[in-house]
Amino acid sequence: MIVCRNCGKQIDINSEFCENCGAKLDLDEVIYKKDIENTRLLRNRRDNIRFACNILLTFLLLIGIMFTFLSFFLTEYPKITMVILALVVYLIFFIVLIVKTKKLSNIEKKLP
Ligand SMILES: [Zn+2]
Repeated sequence: MIVCRNCGKQIDINSEFCENCGAKLDLDEVIYKKDIENTRLLRNRRDNIRFACNILLTFLLLIGIMFTFLSFFLTEYPKITMVILALVVYLIFFIVLIVKTKKLSNIEKKLP
């Protein structure tokens, strides 16, 4: 939202004129406010991605460690299954890690 300089009413940032008094909005101010809003949205997105990925990565790591442990303690037949499961989980872990790093660096580039 942006405040009209003429009448002081709050106006939607995407409108060109004040809905209340019809005064033209200051373009510099609109651009500045839009930048602030975009930055805020990008930061929110970055924090959300970071949070979600960290939870997922922790979860995958724990599952991977669990399968690794099981593969040490189990006998012949389930052992190989556990090894394969552990490897798959570690693979997913690294894929998530790479995607997270790429997404965050993309957002970081757009931030001032
Ligand atoms: Zn106005």
